[in-house]
Amino acid sequence: MRVLAIFSLIFCGTFTVMAQEAFEKDVMATSAGDLEITFIGHGTLMLQIGETVIHIDPWTRLADYAELPKADYVLITHHHGDHLDRDALDLVRTDNTVIVITELCQPNVDDGLVMHNGDAQVFDEFHVQAVPAYNLVHTRESGEVFHPKGQGNGYILTFGDTRVYIAGDTENTPEMKAFENIDVAFLPMNLPYTMTPEMVCDAAKAFRPKMLYPYHYGETDISQLVELLKDEQDIEVRIRNMQ
Ligand code: ZN
Ligand code: ZN
Repeated sequence: MRVLAIFSLIFCGTFTVMAQEAFEKDVMATSAGDLEITFIGHGTLMLQIGETVIHIDPWTRLADYAELPKADYVLITHHHGDHLDRDALDLVRTDNTVIVITELCQPNVDDGLVMHNGDAQVFDEFHVQAVPAYNLVHTRESGEVFHPKGQGNGYILTFGDTRVYIAGDTENTPEMKAFENIDVAFLPMNLPYTMTPEMVCDAAKAFRPKMLYPYHYGETDISQLVELLKDEQDIEVRIRNMQ
């Protein structure tokens, strides 16, 4: 019995470490320190800079949030179930966590900080700007777009000299195409709800992020995007496990 217990202890311990290490991470230097990005999957990320932990759209289907670092900040892009998950919020939050939400998230997050498209916030460690996220052409059978304008946010986060754009569920809107000085962009390619590879390419060629991560891409063929952007030397397309 004792041998079995020791074995299971070792096995469980190893498994927890493996589960943590299974997520891909990238580190990039900013003038405010190294920014570490953990690719949780789908539309979900974790950013860490210094001691500060920022969860983006945490979703319990993708990770055991009891095992991940607690959030100083959570940014929720919109109210859909794969982006706003009460269980994940309950697991990552502390009494001091700032949870940035949209108005439609309010019934589920009564102490959230509502940001509308165009709003900006200055936190100690970074700045955040809420930008529009909506569909132009992709609609439900009823004819209504999946993401009507004004309901969802993308976020531009500024860490020192580095601007990171997390688009949320959106298409290649005129507002997106007019952005300037974006260092890192996360653009969604989950169909039919967001963008085709052609739409992502159109947006990328317009606002020219230095680094582009397709994310929330579902079953969409990411090699098409790589092919479409292969001649754009100044846009580095990085593929991570963000299905
Ligand atoms: Zn959505
Ligand atoms: Zn989504």
